[in-house]
Amino acid sequence: MSNMEETLSIIKPDAVERNLEEKIKSIFIKNNFQITRQKKVKLEKKEAEIFYKVHETKPFYNELCNYLSSGPIVVMVLKKQNAILENRKLMGATDPLEAEVGTIRKEFGISIDKNSVHGSDSPENAKTEIDFFFKN
Ligand code: UDP
Ligand code: MG
Repeated sequence: MSNMEETLSIIKPDAVERNLEEKIKSIFIKNNFQITRQKKVKLEKKEAEIFYKVHETKPFYNELCNYLSSGPIVVMVLKKQNAILENRKLMGATDPLEAEVGTIRKEFGISIDKNSVHGSDSPENAKTEIDFFFKN
């Protein structure tokens, strides 16, 4: 059965800073994701706080929002069958040390906070996150 989905992907500041944008995009393309929308932006801290609101009670929330707003990021809408789960698999575990070989975070992640990419984790969050960046 067809389950064509869209998910939000972010190339985080640590990866943009190391000029990994094209390399990471090429991994998505090679894995049959279509990049249907994309832009490079720099968030204000307030915007990062809204984006990561689901984590507002976590001890790492403030640092996380400082980090996401610390430099340019590339936000993309990725389209594929089961894109949400497929992107999570391709990204690998949150902590690059625990990510499997062949995943983006294993290859490029520096640490649990500087883990190079974000990906939506559910259809509901994918919709909210896509709207956050791309609703006109
Ligand atoms: N994070 C962190 N410390 C932690 C857990 C998470 O800095 O102990 C950061 C990490 O960059 C992660 C983000 O917070 O990507 C969001 O956490 P989540 O659990 O949603 O992980 P993800 O969905 O990104 O794998
Ligand atoms: Mg998450």
